[in-house]
This record gives sequence, structure tokens and C-alpha cells, in this order.
Amino acid sequence: MDAFSKDQLIQQILDLGVQPGGILVVHTSFSKVKPVENGPLGLIEALQTALTPAGTLVMPSMSWEDDDIFDDNTTPCPEMGIVSDTFWRLPGVLRSDNAHAFAAIGPLAARIVAHHPIDAPHGLDSPVGRVYELGGRILLLGVDHDSNTTIHLAESLAGVRYRRKKYLTILKNGKPSQLHYEEIDHCCQNFNLVDGWLDEKGLQRKGKIGHADARLIRSQDVVETVMQRLRENETTFLHPEGVDEECDDARASLKS
Ligand SMILES: [Zn+2]
Repeated sequence: MDAFSKDQLIQQILDLGVQPGGILVVHTSFSKVKPVENGPLGLIEALQTALTPAGTLVMPSMSWEDDDIFDDNTTPCPEMGIVSDTFWRLPGVLRSDNAHAFAAIGPLAARIVAHHPIDAPHGLDSPVGRVYELGGRILLLGVDHDSNTTIHLAESLAGVRYRRKKYLTILKNGKPSQLHYEEIDHCCQNFNLVDGWLDEKGLQRKGKIGHADARLIRSQDVVETVMQRLRENETTFLHPEGVDEECDDARASLKS
């Protein structure tokens, strides 16, 4: 396959509808996008050029290492993909200070990744919550809605009652200590239902970036669409009992 040049990527990004000067949260599977010139860095530069210096680029940067203390200067985020794990290391990119981190660059970066509560990772007072309030957009690049963290924000705003028990390791009085909390969570596979809900309402732009399927959606459209469905059926995202442990945990929490 031919590698896409930076200029070709920029054209694809703009054709999809990315707004110069806007806020863009990008979830990426680089294996679907490649080959592109200069690899993950080439893609990041194309996104930044399309957004212009007036825009703010945001990526997930969270760590799944529950037993390690998160350090925003050193802790990698390989589960978020190579583009995200390249992005937070770049000069000028800011990263939030807990394990549910996002990273960002641009005029609104400091506001979006400012300190957020560790035990309510995706509420209004979180990076995805701030992007929602600031009118940002979400780009799913070679990934589906099961990677779309903003759907957790919609669950939080809809007031769903299901939770799963989680813990993280933090420093307390200078010593590693487990912080236990309850998070709105499940296996998230059924977040892919959101694709059809958005298409039905014509709220999703689809195209290609590099070789990957790309979807562009306003954060506010994701939140409003999902909240409406959750008001009709709180457990719409949970699998029936006995399919997987995560959804079973979430269902069990509704009975306790
Ligand atoms: Zn499930």
C-alpha cells in the first residue's frame, strides 16, 4: 500500500469536516491508518496542521496499570495505541495528573487537562466533560464507538446507577496506597449501538483518513443522543446476564 503524505492526510481531515480552530478529541488505531509518511508523528502533525495553532488537539492518555503509581511525566499508555502514546511525550503537550489522564495541545489544553477527580473519571469535571462544555468534536479513527470515552460522560450525566468496583494505586503520606472507588463501567461493546443511533439522526460524518474509516461527531450530539436512549432504558448498554463478567458486575450493582 502507498503511504499517505502529510498533505493528503490534511486534505482528508478537512474533507471529513474537522474545523480549523476547533477542539478535537482523537481516538486512533494506527494499524488501520498506516502506512503514512513519518508514521504516528506524521499523523499527529497532519491533525495539528488541519486544526491550525488556534485549535486544540486532545487524546486519551490513561494508564491501565492499577498497581503502579501514575506519573504524568513517565507512565506510558500503550493501551490507547501508538498515536496516543507518542502524543503525550511531544514538546508542548500537556497531560493530566492522574491515571485517567488525557493529553492536549493548543489554546484550551491547560483548561481541558487541569486536575480532575480520580474517582469520577468521566463526569462533567473531566477532560471529556470539558470538551463537551466547550463544544468540541470527536474523531474516531480506525476505531468504533466502544473506544468513545464521551459515551461514559453521557452515562454519568444521565445518572445511570450501575457501577463496578475499581482501585488505583496513589501516593498517600509518601507511601503507595490503594484507592478504592466505584466507576460507571461494563464491557463497553454495546457502545457500538451508538453508531446506528447517530446515523439515524444524521449526526455523524464518515470518510477516510489514511486507510482507516473515520467518523466525526460533535461531543454534544453524542451526549444528547445517548442520554435520550438511557432515559428510555438505563441498562441499554449492559449485556444480558451470563455473557461477560463486566456487564454481570454492573447488573449486580443495580440489585444491591
Ligand atoms: Zn458486556
